[in-house]
Amino acid sequence: MNKLTVFEKPPKARAGAAAPHQYRLLGRRVLITDELGRWALLTRPEYDRLLAGLEPSDPLWPKLQPLGFLAEAFDFDAAARRRFERSLLSWKGPASHVLLLDDARGAMDLDAARRIVEFVFTCPGPQLTLELVFSDADKCWPVLWFIVQYARRKGEWSRRPVFLIARGKALAPDQADFLRSHGVTRAADLELDGVPDMKKAPPFRAQRARARLGPDAADPRAWARWFEKWGFESVRLLPSSLDDDGVAAFAAFYGEFLGELVEHGEESNLRDEWALSFLAGRPWSLPGTDVLEQLAYDGTGRVFTSEEAAAGAGELGLGAVGTLRYSDLPASGAAGAVIASSHPDNQPLCSQCAYRPYCALPPALNLKLQGSLWGQTPASPACTVQMGILDHIFGRLDDEKWLLLLDKWNVDMT
Ligand code: SF4
Repeated sequence: MNKLTVFEKPPKARAGAAAPHQYRLLGRRVLITDELGRWALLTRPEYDRLLAGLEPSDPLWPKLQPLGFLAEAFDFDAAARRRFERSLLSWKGPASHVLLLDDARGAMDLDAARRIVEFVFTCPGPQLTLELVFSDADKCWPVLWFIVQYARRKGEWSRRPVFLIARGKALAPDQADFLRSHGVTRAADLELDGVPDMKKAPPFRAQRARARLGPDAADPRAWARWFEKWGFESVRLLPSSLDDDGVAAFAAFYGEFLGELVEHGEESNLRDEWALSFLAGRPWSLPGTDVLEQLAYDGTGRVFTSEEAAAGAGELGLGAVGTLRYSDLPASGAAGAVIASSHPDNQPLCSQCAYRPYCALPPALNLKLQGSLWGQTPASPACTVQMGILDHIFGRLDDEKWLLLLDKWNVDMT
């Protein structure tokens, strides 16, 4: 199955005119991107002129030359700097640490929690995010309380910014007050069914939502207004299922949802987490990318390459806190395999995809969906989901309102 777009009548190209790039047809526009994540959205006649060779007098020349799309005026120094910033040479370690506070065996014990927090603080990087995931709030409260206190102290002692996120069920008012007073962000897992009842509040106040579409989720614009009304600051939409119908319905829903955010961007504070992640253009910005972005820890202190890996059959275990050192990771077969396989260069279809500089499929997800860490992007429903999202994000990049909103969200589009 080929998801790439092709011209019915290929444009005529002059050798050596355009610098290497990939293209994707988005409606009547042509999106071009290069290896370094630079992009331009052109009309078809503009693209034809680029391939035929632009004269410096052409109005497109000053737009495309600084972006590196003109072979004859390519800035190699700028390209080298950008390559360095976006390659693994600039990776500073996993920024996100997911602590799974309970499972069928019960809640994490305090000693395991202490050792996990200590391991997390041995990881390099300018800042750390600890995401505390729980399903039974009462059973997990002692360990949740301890981790919040201990991580805050460790952050003060080490002078490192620490972001704490609590993702789970509703808490008692005094527990919620405690988290608020310690600067803990609340994240809610929601399922969107039908159309929203604007008067119906979410189960608890949260700043972030992971919102899975139910099979009959409808009226995405109204759902966007519902999230705004109840004070959410960001949302990550997820498909109801990864079958063909679920993926197609998700792409349509996401496009409308994003349209509503763009339409009301001036007055709304709601942000789309997909756009924020993809437009950062680095594999370690994509949530759930094994090791590069995330490590996960279960209740006994076992370390996994990601939350998805922790839910799997255990192949992607890295060891246990207490004996595992961060410096052991480069020698770990599992860590090496997920880092190698998350690189889009290793995917046959990705090599021709315009979204390759922004996109990667988490290897643990490939393992679950297709039985291998590399997976096979042409047939992966996760690729279809990401391509659908990226089409909506990039297809709007000639909309002034969208660019203003991205600026408001502090997305660097250069
Ligand atoms: S996984 Fe991402 S980069 Fe690869 S083909 Fe799919 S959308 Fe393109």
